[in-house]
Amino acid sequence: MKAIYIEQHGGPEVLKFGDFAKPAPAPGQVLVKVAVSGVNFIDIYQRNGLYKMPLPAVLGVEGAGVVEALGEGVTGFKPGDSVAWTMARGSYAEYAAVPAVSLVHVPAHVSMSDAAAAMLQGMTAHYLTHSTFPLDNTHTALVHAAAGGTGRLIVQMAKLRGARVIATAGSAAKAQVAREAGADEVILYNDTDFQASVKQLTNGAGVHVVYDGVGKATYDKSIDSLRPRGMMVSFGNASGAVPPVDLLSLSTKGSLFLTRPTLGNYSSPEELKWRSGDLFSWMKDGKLKLMIEKEYPLADTAQAQIDLAGRGTMGKLLVTI
Ligand code: NDP
Repeated sequence: MKAIYIEQHGGPEVLKFGDFAKPAPAPGQVLVKVAVSGVNFIDIYQRNGLYKMPLPAVLGVEGAGVVEALGEGVTGFKPGDSVAWTMARGSYAEYAAVPAVSLVHVPAHVSMSDAAAAMLQGMTAHYLTHSTFPLDNTHTALVHAAAGGTGRLIVQMAKLRGARVIATAGSAAKAQVAREAGADEVILYNDTDFQASVKQLTNGAGVHVVYDGVGKATYDKSIDSLRPRGMMVSFGNASGAVPPVDLLSLSTKGSLFLTRPTLGNYSSPEELKWRSGDLFSWMKDGKLKLMIEKEYPLADTAQAQIDLAGRGTMGKLLVTI
């Protein structure tokens, strides 16, 4: 089968497009003919070696497609079913063997592209706003990179929960997208000191929670944008990994909470059903609007990763197989 795989870690040039052994579904797995794969930052971390794994490996951790065959012991799915998944690697390929526990049925009203686009970033935005720090209408949240794939969905879900949202964005065009997603205020953080703006916008109090997927470049000022007992949710490394933290600083800066969550710990079978069910029903009702920036052919996956890392994109990038 055709796939995008790596034999060593490195830049986009290590992504190879070529023939790779078609997987066979092991017990508990489902073989899916992939229609669309999501492109995510985790693919870049796995490619460049920030996140380690055995090589050679097919990359891509999110997709939608049609069930081709079932491994031993799988129930609840049959050949021909439309399915989507995340947190199982191998979606940059014509076929993927996916654990049945990671799969959800795609409702008829959801296209393959929308299903693939919603899974990783949508479930991430869901757990961040509903579980890590369950927002309500008494909270003010700071959301970084709010026009990005995940950020834009966090903004929409924070507004669904009634919170006030202060967003950051890297350009005027991105600020407009963040506003359209529902942000109450948008700070152009490349030109403005966002910490000072947050203090001003909260009358000196600071925010209850910061959702920070940018990482190294924003960590210090994010922590300093919190009110006492606020929560720093550092969920990504788009600008690089956050260096080790001085634990005592959480005390001196106001008895702060700090978490570094990952979707893997927020996606039990029950949570997967809850979160994907919410996503698909909000998409149907128009409460959640996806934004697909571009769909690339599988052979151009390297370009998709270059574009995502290059800070020029808004919303979701996909690869069609
Ligand atoms: P985005 O679409 O948000 O793209 C990243 C954005 O980050 C850029 O567009 C840019 O927006 C901003 N950014 C700021 N500094 C940099 C930099 N130096 N290099 C690149 N981008 C920068 O990507 P995703 O939605 O796919 O991912 C966002 C973050 O969420 C990532 O860190 C990812 O790892 C994390 N994530 C974490 C998950 C988890 O469970 N922990 C799950 C899913 C995603 P701007 O121009 O506005 O600054």
